[in-house]
Amino acid sequence: MTATATLTPQSVKIGPTKLLINGEWQNSASGKTFPTINPATEEVIAQVAEADAPDVEAAVKAARRAFEDGAWSKMSAADRGRLMYRLADLIEANKKELAALETLDNGKPFGDALAADLPLTIACYRYFAGWTDKIHGKTIPVAGPYFTYTRHEPVGVCGQIIPWNFPLLMQAWKLAPALACGCTVILKIAEQTPLTALRVGELILEAGFPPGVVNLLPGYGPTAGQALARHMDVDKVAFTGSTEVGHLIMKYAAESNLKRVTLELGGKSPNIVFADTDLDAAAEGAHFALFFNQGQCCCAGSRLFVEQKVHEQFVEKLVTRAKNRKVGDPFARGIEQGPQVDKEQFGKVLGYIEAGKKEGAELMCGGGRVGNKGYFVEPTVFNNVKDEMKIAQEEIFGPVMAVMPFKDVDEVVKRANRTAYGLAAAVWTRDIEKAHSVAARVRAGTVWVNCYDVFDAAAPFGGYKQSGLGRELGEYGLQNYTEVKTVTVKI
Ligand code: NAP
Ligand code: MG
Repeated sequence: MTATATLTPQSVKIGPTKLLINGEWQNSASGKTFPTINPATEEVIAQVAEADAPDVEAAVKAARRAFEDGAWSKMSAADRGRLMYRLADLIEANKKELAALETLDNGKPFGDALAADLPLTIACYRYFAGWTDKIHGKTIPVAGPYFTYTRHEPVGVCGQIIPWNFPLLMQAWKLAPALACGCTVILKIAEQTPLTALRVGELILEAGFPPGVVNLLPGYGPTAGQALARHMDVDKVAFTGSTEVGHLIMKYAAESNLKRVTLELGGKSPNIVFADTDLDAAAEGAHFALFFNQGQCCCAGSRLFVEQKVHEQFVEKLVTRAKNRKVGDPFARGIEQGPQVDKEQFGKVLGYIEAGKKEGAELMCGGGRVGNKGYFVEPTVFNNVKDEMKIAQEEIFGPVMAVMPFKDVDEVVKRANRTAYGLAAAVWTRDIEKAHSVAARVRAGTVWVNCYDVFDAAAPFGGYKQSGLGRELGEYGLQNYTEVKTVTVKI
């Protein structure tokens, strides 16, 4: 593959479509399959094996065996790291093929998949590969004739559940820290986008990971996902997705074995633009913050607060940019926006647009679907949105921008924090004092200053309040996958 122009849905290589359990590709116990759809054409790409409770059972057994007495538990930390580096190299060697498969299954522009999803995925595996032999405890000077030290041991068998918005990257965020810490994994892949995670499964086998270390289960949340989160022999569950399901995951853990829980949930992130900023850069940044990935980002800058003094001219810039956004065939060169991931999300986004109109927000551009095939939505901008409107309160997860004017710092900080969410925030200003003061006062896990969506495997990410529990990435991300053991010896 040399140029994006030569790519078509038919030219994309489809990898495995079965369950990966104990190092083997298997049909589901029930024999059931489900179709995965190309959201740009609404056509079925492939039938995929549908995991359910019996498959979860088999996968947990395999993961437990690999954790307790398999080759994995005997392997040195450095050798675990080498396997992870090898996996990163294999993903890199196949990055165009993987990016094309991601585009086919998810709908995101091929250029974005290649420029963002793949490099971030590869970097994540490499970052955590580097940690494997650097995870250790402390010696602690306790009172009396004792020698006390701590060990950071792997938490054990991990159940992980991921969404469809960044399938490869979410797989990396989950697998990489778990493997680095010496855990074994059962990963439930989102039913909308199973194909790339399964192709990575093939690369995991090629890299030489022992059987049972990584088990991959495509399937549905209420069946396979629930069985995993309720399983008595799963030590930890890590979930990324909606806040609604996040509540359920915690309940499943509480009602079963009190397994450790980490959650990365939704957001309604405030993006605050002060009049003293570089308005062109801020307008481009605000556009990217909302529309990137078809608006399907947990941290999307979906409440755009603009200082009143520049509000009108800023909205003009936003509307011009949104109207110029190139929507269409995600394999075509220069396309910035593909379809929403599936019919359900498409309908939901159009429903929010109707709600915005009904509640009296000012529709500046967009507002409908694009074409009559595929789940494409027009880049939409609402102006003069009120805090209490549905489109300012709920996660839309689509290309719908909500602009809200504000007068001063105290007011905007108060309004920014008036939400159940707390995933991310951004502030645009040339005033360094204001930037740091707002960054400190906003209750969110990540604050960007004069930029947006800047991610790095070394920088922790996660939510305050109902946006989540725990942090992923960086050194903090390791805490989710280790238990601390204190050993005291009499001397
Ligand atoms: P979701 O239902 O929370 O799905 C996320 C993952 O959880 C999927 O793998 C899903 O399986 C699984 N799941 C669903 N119900 C479950 C249950 N009862 N037990 C265990 N696992 C379960 O999200 P969605 O329905 O795809 O999207 C709905 C909304 O969630 C979006 O509009 C957006 O607001 C939000 N969302 C947030 C993120 C994020 O990154 N924070 C990502 C995606 C969606 P299935 O394959 O069956 O769905
Ligand atoms: Mg699909």
